[in-house]
Amino acid sequence: SSKGIGEKERTLGIIKPDGFSGNYTDRIKQMVVEYGFNINREMVIQLDEELAAKFYAEHSSKSFFSSLIKYMTSGPVLVMILEKENAVAHWRDLIGPTDAGKAKLTHPQSIRAMCGVDLEKNCLHGSDSHQSAEREIAFFFKETPSDEAVEKHDEL
Ligand code: ADP
Ligand code: MG
Repeated sequence: SSKGIGEKERTLGIIKPDGFSGNYTDRIKQMVVEYGFNINREMVIQLDEELAAKFYAEHSSKSFFSSLIKYMTSGPVLVMILEKENAVAHWRDLIGPTDAGKAKLTHPQSIRAMCGVDLEKNCLHGSDSHQSAEREIAFFFKETPSDEAVEKHDEL
């Protein structure tokens, strides 16, 4: 699905295990709402290695991959569908740069500056594009087929 000017967009946000276990969830949600996002759906899930590796497949050849999978499976995470205009870019803006250590210096108002630690333990995930967002939303939230799709199927 493409998006037109002024239309709302969805992105996928994840509060990673350090953020979720560190009691940052309420403050993060408060910032999310203050920033104008609507939380469409949310789910707490304990990722296993297989699911985490599938989610981060694009990084499977990186040197930090096994450490990342260990981090992401170290406790439950909170997965959220966030909706607003330009949700993908605005969520990346609100969470701040990947390196939470640097974020504390350069983006002190960002969420990663508040609850992240370093380049790996950065407390949050945000989709990197509109396409990634839709793929990641489908990955976690199996959405029921639209009426149109059901009708088409019935015709077969
Ligand atoms: P982002 O989450 O900002 O989109 P990436 O997609 O590049 O960042 O990386 C995915 C996740 O992998 C990061 O959020 C972070 O937890 C971890 N990560 C990225 N780069 C490194 C690195 N060089 N060393 C350790 N962990 C990393
Ligand atoms: Mg990324």
